[in-house]
Amino acid sequence: MVQSSVLGFPRMGKLRDLKKATEAYWGGKISRDDLLAEGKRLRLEHWNIQKNAGVDLIPSNDFAFYDQVLDHIQLFNVIPERYSKYNLDPLDTYFAMGRGLQKEGVDVPALEMVKWFDSNYHYVKPALSDNQEFKLAADPKPVREFLEAKAAGIVTRPVLLGPVSFLALGKADRGASLNPITKLQDLLPVYADLLAQLKAAGAEDVQIDEPVLVFDLAADVKAAFKPAYEKLGNLGDKAPRLTLATYFGDIVHNIDVLSSLQSLHAVHVDLVRNPEQLDTVIAALGPNQTLSAGVVDGRNIWKADFKVAIEKVEAAIQKLGKDRVIVATSSSLLHTPHTLASEKNLDAEIRDWFSFAVEKLSEVVVIAKAVTEGPASVSAELEANAKSMHSRATSTRTNDPAVKARQAAVTPEQHIRQSPFPVRIAQQTEHIKLPKFPTTTIGSFPQTSQIRVTRNKFTKGEITAAEYEKFIEDQIREVVKVQEDLDLDVLVHGEAERNDMVQYFGERLTGYAFTTHAWVQSYGSRCVRPPIIVGDISRPAPMTVKESKFAVSITNKPMKGMLTGPITCLRWSFPRNDVHQSVQAQQLALALRDEVVDLEEAGVKVIQVDEPALREGLPLRAGAEREKYIKWAVDAFKLSTAGVTDSTQIHSHFCYSEFQDFFHAIAALDADVLSIENSKSDAKLLKVFVDEKYPRHIGPGVYDIHSPRVPSEQEIKDRAAEMLAYLSPEQLWINPDCGLKTRAWPETKAALANMVAAAKYFREKY
Ligand code: GLN
Ligand code: ZN
Repeated sequence: MVQSSVLGFPRMGKLRDLKKATEAYWGGKISRDDLLAEGKRLRLEHWNIQKNAGVDLIPSNDFAFYDQVLDHIQLFNVIPERYSKYNLDPLDTYFAMGRGLQKEGVDVPALEMVKWFDSNYHYVKPALSDNQEFKLAADPKPVREFLEAKAAGIVTRPVLLGPVSFLALGKADRGASLNPITKLQDLLPVYADLLAQLKAAGAEDVQIDEPVLVFDLAADVKAAFKPAYEKLGNLGDKAPRLTLATYFGDIVHNIDVLSSLQSLHAVHVDLVRNPEQLDTVIAALGPNQTLSAGVVDGRNIWKADFKVAIEKVEAAIQKLGKDRVIVATSSSLLHTPHTLASEKNLDAEIRDWFSFAVEKLSEVVVIAKAVTEGPASVSAELEANAKSMHSRATSTRTNDPAVKARQAAVTPEQHIRQSPFPVRIAQQTEHIKLPKFPTTTIGSFPQTSQIRVTRNKFTKGEITAAEYEKFIEDQIREVVKVQEDLDLDVLVHGEAERNDMVQYFGERLTGYAFTTHAWVQSYGSRCVRPPIIVGDISRPAPMTVKESKFAVSITNKPMKGMLTGPITCLRWSFPRNDVHQSVQAQQLALALRDEVVDLEEAGVKVIQVDEPALREGLPLRAGAEREKYIKWAVDAFKLSTAGVTDSTQIHSHFCYSEFQDFFHAIAALDADVLSIENSKSDAKLLKVFVDEKYPRHIGPGVYDIHSPRVPSEQEIKDRAAEMLAYLSPEQLWINPDCGLKTRAWPETKAALANMVAAAKYFREKY
């Protein structure tokens, strides 16, 4: 019999219950026990949903109050002294590591948080000290939660992050210099102990995640697998069977590692992302090893195509037999929203194409049944699924011949500005009349509660469109006045009309769908609700011209138009899975190109196209795939911006500063001005711009906008002076790190006043 399995379930709950509970606990509104009880309630509910759906292998320990990697940090006592010294309640120590803590004599920042592979989820990075010791927590969480499920009559398969990935995803804590993987031998006994306790509690199977196998691995990390799993896989009757799980990539380049892990019971691979790895992985399995076939997408919201999924599973069964194949989600379902049942406003045609976490459970169950008992056992489900697939493939909502025709006619010349940068910048200086060390901001000004309340009223129909428009105009008038008083050089309209930098554009483009409850955890209690790209994208009407034009009309200073770039629109949405992402990026680019040209015609001389998501789309491994991505992503940006004349200045913005391995992509954008985050990083990161002789203008952020702290004029001067060690005075712009929407007005004005004063100082000096 072919079993069905799920690698992990979203933990927020149907209505973001976990977010509400944790935030209430942080705010002192509910007690620790209340929070623990809510966690327990959610776990039980999620196990029962999976049991009732008929899933055979149900995960436990996939729940976390903040992050699953942080759970392991606490589980193995990898808690830096700066947190443990306060002797807080373990739950509070946990949250202190996740989000920092500042109260009653405690003042400690959070551990570093970084993106989980190429997803929009963020994990807390383990930080190891040079003399790191590991100690298994008393009453370990994985055992506790296994017993909790068992008491409810559900025997689960606990999920652990494997020792190699735990260490490889970690780093040396500040002040330390060890290479974490060198601690493997010390960590393994702790895993062995944990596995023994799980077995004693009744766990027959454990899912052990080693997702780093999809990376290009350093030799020492690669070499760590064999000793690790020789030890953990050969504990005999004292330990559960191990299913090693990988996802978000293929493991073909590390297949020799797999061949050496014969003690494993099963290996899970992602066959949604990389179906072509199937044969290689099967060939590397030992005679008794099982394949867990990830055929239901854990990263997207589309219904699985049963025909395609069943073909993949059947191919595995042919070689391995039914008893050695498991049907699974490609990854944890953490990256999908809870349930489609909550969506009341979706158009019926589109809704039929979607499947969220709860619905994906039935998919693995149906596929497992189809291959176990034959297609006739699920004929109704297969038929309905084939119908949805056909409807989606042929719908006028997915296919727009005009968009396709326009794409077919795109020429290489459309990606290239009329003249090279030296010619352009001469014309721009003349046309825009900019001083040296020009000052500007990144786009948004404080999104006050008044703005949010008024926008809500408008959405609910409590005020008219005319009233709302008037309100937005007043807001623009206000921020323009503030910027003139501050004597900034390139002004912005403030983005008061925007709810979100992607959703705002999605709502104005054809081809997008929106949900009301489809939240996905981003980090800690923070969730995002990405719009969904369902079909060919086009721009029925200008999206931002009205506001920008108004802003231009009320000032004599240059006004910067503000757009979200094609790659960021793509990456921060759920993309289509029926056409390549490069096709979707190009459609977005063409829509934005029209917007850029319209802005230019409306008298906007400076246009910024934000691409903060450009880098996160980079494929996980170096090589051909990465180069291909860079090519189409850069092309999309260029296509969206190259329609203007030389005298219009194109800016772009990125919220990060590490360009070392990504520099040629940034340079290839050919943007006249780049603004980047830099205030918290080492100015040395700018060295790459010198080394590579980057010729265009750059505004590395001179102060941190994530904090209400006001930087002094001297601090900003010092920062800019550091930058001038790497950039020429002609190149340097003076601006903050990012948009100011999360800030309040008083600190915003004070910080910008100091910034302008600092810029004027340099203008005098050079
Ligand atoms: N223009 C946007 C803003 O200022 C940029 C946001 C971002 O980079 N994430 O808010
Ligand atoms: Zn930014």
